Amino acid sequence: MIYERIKDLIKQDDEITGLMRELDTSIEEAEKVRKSTGLAKECEDCAKGGGGCCGKGMEGYYGIEIILINLLMGVKLDQPEYREDSCYFLGEDGCILMAREVICVNFLCERIYSGIPLRNIILFQEVSGIALQKLFYLEERIKKFLRRTVMTSSRPLLIAS
Ligand code: SF4
Ligand code: SF4
Repeated sequence: MIYERIKDLIKQDDEITGLMRELDTSIEEAEKVRKSTGLAKECEDCAKGGGGCCGKGMEGYYGIEIILINLLMGVKLDQPEYREDSCYFLGEDGCILMAREVICVNFLCERIYSGIPLRNIILFQEVSGIALQKLFYLEERIKKFLRRTVMTSSRPLLIAS
């Protein structure tokens, strides 16, 4: 698998590993705020009631770099029992990803706006915005890394063994 061959090379890159650590901390912070402000509970209740906004095809917004980042963060992408009417990344307990695209992070429905105080929503948007910014830098750095590695590797990385 390409990932196995590229993982060790990526882990040797100090800039990428530094950005990974920063992203991890920012995501953790945003998740804490999502819970403490009541957003997480609202979405859990919504999902339990058969609602949710993780529709079929949403996985199509995810590119190679963010998938790679999630794999490096230890996310297991196998979803043997995924629901065909939902996003591929929707697991039994919600989204299985750690790093999520802007479309997933920023979407807040009417239920959230009417059920959660505005100051809490703003606080969440502030901290999740920091995580999105870190994600953007990391994705750009990985793009550069992949271009350079693929172009200079004596062993073709894009051919799975
Ligand atoms: S954002 Fe809205 S629709 Fe999506 S899971 Fe939360 S409450 Fe449900
Ligand atoms: S939050 Fe996760 S499960 Fe929901 S649409 Fe986004 S990637 Fe899919």
